[in-house]
Amino acid sequence: MTTIFHKIIRREIPADIVYEDDDIIAFRDIAPQAPVHVLFVPKTDVATLNDLREDQAAIVGRLAFAAARYAKEQGFSEDGYRIVMNCNDHGGQTVFQIHLHLLAGAQLGRFGT
Ligand code: 5GP
Repeated sequence: MTTIFHKIIRREIPADIVYEDDDIIAFRDIAPQAPVHVLFVPKTDVATLNDLREDQAAIVGRLAFAAARYAKEQGFSEDGYRIVMNCNDHGGQTVFQIHLHLLAGAQLGRFGT
């Protein structure tokens, strides 16, 4: 599978990478929707949340843990933040490699209002 995120993982296109380990990579979104907007992406190929197998469920936990750790390291964990995963058309997914958005740095709008 090749998406723009796979190209970032392979260093074929540049990105502002803020964290990487053997399993995940995190980099700043190219079109930030908040003062802090970082994408956490697994290196395992999973196109959408619908494609995540039960034996791969820990991947999402790794993404969330890395996002929370980043928030603590950057000093905005107590102010708060939002994590979002979009799935398919109605969810607004545009890149078909699962990823977790971390949004922070301002009072974010409430859902459903
Ligand atoms: P989705 O809409 O799939 O949930 O999120 C995809 C995100 O990837 C969008 O917020 C979009 O701005 C971001 N994005 C798309 N192309 C690039 C790119 O080439 N580099 C970076 N850093 N982010 C990208």
